[in-house]
Amino acid sequence: MDDKEITIEELEQLMLTNGKQYDVTKVLAAYQFAAKAHEGQFRSSGQPYIIHPLAVAKSLLELGMDTDSVCAALLHDVVEDTEATRQDIDKRFGTTVGMLVEGVTKLKKIPMFNKEQQQAENVRKMMLAMSQDIRVIIIKLCDRLHNMRTLQFRPPHKQRSTADETMHIYVPLANRLGIRAVKDELEDLSFFYLDDFAYSEIEQILQMNRDQRESFISSIKEQILERLKDVPLEKTPEIFGRVKSHYSIYRKIFLQQKEYEEIYDKYAVRVIVSTVQECYAVLGIIHEMYRPLPNRFKDYISTPKSNMYQSLHTTVLGREGIPFEVQIRTWDMHQTAEYGIAAHWKYKEGVTHEDRMDQRLSWIRQALEQQQSSDDVEEILNIIKSDIAPEDIYVMTPKGKTISLPIGATAIDFAYRIHTEIGHKTIGARADGRIVPLEYELQTGQIVEILTSKDPEKGPNRAWLDIAKTNEAKSKIRSWFKRERREENIVTGKSVLEKEFKRSRIRLTEEQLIEFLADDLKRHNCQTLDDFYASIGYGGIVISKLLPRWKDLYHRHYCINENEPEEQPIIKPVRHTSTPIILDDISDCAVKFAQCCNPLPGDEIIGFITRGHGISVHTVGCTNYRSVLARSNPEELERWVEIQWTDSSDTAMQTNIEVVAHDRVGLVYDISAILTEARIPIMHSSSHILRNGNAVFDASIRIVNKSQLTAVFESIRKIKGVISVERAKR
Ligand code: MN
Repeated sequence: MDDKEITIEELEQLMLTNGKQYDVTKVLAAYQFAAKAHEGQFRSSGQPYIIHPLAVAKSLLELGMDTDSVCAALLHDVVEDTEATRQDIDKRFGTTVGMLVEGVTKLKKIPMFNKEQQQAENVRKMMLAMSQDIRVIIIKLCDRLHNMRTLQFRPPHKQRSTADETMHIYVPLANRLGIRAVKDELEDLSFFYLDDFAYSEIEQILQMNRDQRESFISSIKEQILERLKDVPLEKTPEIFGRVKSHYSIYRKIFLQQKEYEEIYDKYAVRVIVSTVQECYAVLGIIHEMYRPLPNRFKDYISTPKSNMYQSLHTTVLGREGIPFEVQIRTWDMHQTAEYGIAAHWKYKEGVTHEDRMDQRLSWIRQALEQQQSSDDVEEILNIIKSDIAPEDIYVMTPKGKTISLPIGATAIDFAYRIHTEIGHKTIGARADGRIVPLEYELQTGQIVEILTSKDPEKGPNRAWLDIAKTNEAKSKIRSWFKRERREENIVTGKSVLEKEFKRSRIRLTEEQLIEFLADDLKRHNCQTLDDFYASIGYGGIVISKLLPRWKDLYHRHYCINENEPEEQPIIKPVRHTSTPIILDDISDCAVKFAQCCNPLPGDEIIGFITRGHGISVHTVGCTNYRSVLARSNPEELERWVEIQWTDSSDTAMQTNIEVVAHDRVGLVYDISAILTEARIPIMHSSSHILRNGNAVFDASIRIVNKSQLTAVFESIRKIKGVISVERAKR
């Protein structure tokens, strides 16, 4: 975890020794450019800032990455943190380096911290989808690695959140790409900060400090190497030793509930030789040198694992009495083992995945190591993209929550995904700060912001049904129309039905109509005829589908005489004159007070001459009346007539009232008392509590005229706690 000072000389040394062709001059130029740009900047550790890009570049060299990646690593923070621009980098180091730097800068803007697994998965997918070049992700991983190595200089809360993010996003990402060394180290560092108690417990279990463990390993390496000198081998064998990571031991002990004693492979030494024969020869020598533990020998050379992994495994007891595992394999086998990483993760973490994916991931890893041309890199990335996110896009809310939507999804889909109410209130959208039309197709990586209306009445537009891509949004839009536009839907539905009936020459009285439609009402879950009209209005019931059956039904049971003449209005005293009809004059014909507005004597009213059902009376302010009027043709307009109440219009009329009040004991009693005192019959009443804690008292009462109602309202308003009292619309 210590961060030794890294120098450019060290990088030069690595470039010369790691067996690849590097453009050292270009790397040095990138270093100088970065050093100058970051001049005067410091890390939290107090070290000059340039240490950080140098460390990232070093990790990339250790992974065997190419010149452009190393240059981009050195320059990865300059666009973000200094005066330098993408153009500067393009000009000096070429567009590839420029693109890599920009890619890393772009990824920094993805807010990633989130514990929820689903969110973490989306962020990983988004990172993969957003980076045009897979090297961007690898640079990002090395960037995170150095930040984790120097996390002790950050404040404690930052340490936790960074470690958490690393564990949930970067570790699985490194794992998925098969960069095992980086994955293991990130995992252990995160583990240290996330659960220092368990970490120190493991540390204690291991009993030795890091240096001692390393010296134990290196002494074994020396012992084996020394002994193999006498053996005629094709080439000097390579021996690697490692301590199993803290986290893998933690996982075994705490998650797999194993006793520490059961874990023999805390230390592992890997011997790599040239041929299969040499593998067995070396095995014999190891067993000669150290006492093998029983039942710990496995021959994966004669019986390879299903993922093609081949190796000899044995566990032996070291001279200090410490057991350790030895793996013996050829270089070819070693390649397969390292590149077949997906399979490795499969059995280690119990994650199942398709083999096709495994093969592709190992190929990605190989292609990276072999320094493919940029064409190949692009192809690899396309494969990752199509494997991982075949038909999804990933966008973010301004707060950094990742939302996944199908390709082609629009701002409307996004809005409804965030919240139904936000969807309904949408008036516009911004993508990456730019206003976009609602039908704009969102792109992965965009930060999307929905502009909403403050108008509580604001609802969706029917045209959105064509814009929305997701069924989720569509069904939410439909149900809004179903719920919020009930009155409008009833009027629309009713007029549609009437028109269709007229065209089909279906003529029914109101009583007949209810009977006629009874089955349909039941079938569509409608309690009342209005419910049925409303369903027609919002499009839930399509009349054209029902008409054939209706016609049949009508002709079999209702139609008495096909040639019956057009029915005449039965209302005799109708006068289409400027003199209003006095209600009393027509009291001998059927007068129906519309349920939508419950007109009361004193209200300004208007009448509609129905065909065969008398006059239906609405208040002038009635929304139903207004919308029907708006869509009436000249012939229908003629049927609207002025009506007036007579002075003697004192037949009690039913109306509904709604009282809203701060809830308190005795409220309902007080309201009832006032109504009783005014001798107003209560036909029906109910009360309930609103979500905001206020009480609502609804009542159907019989009122003689408007002035009586006004007086009663006055009295009710004086009751303690009453906020409002109104005539309720139905
Ligand atoms: Mn950085």
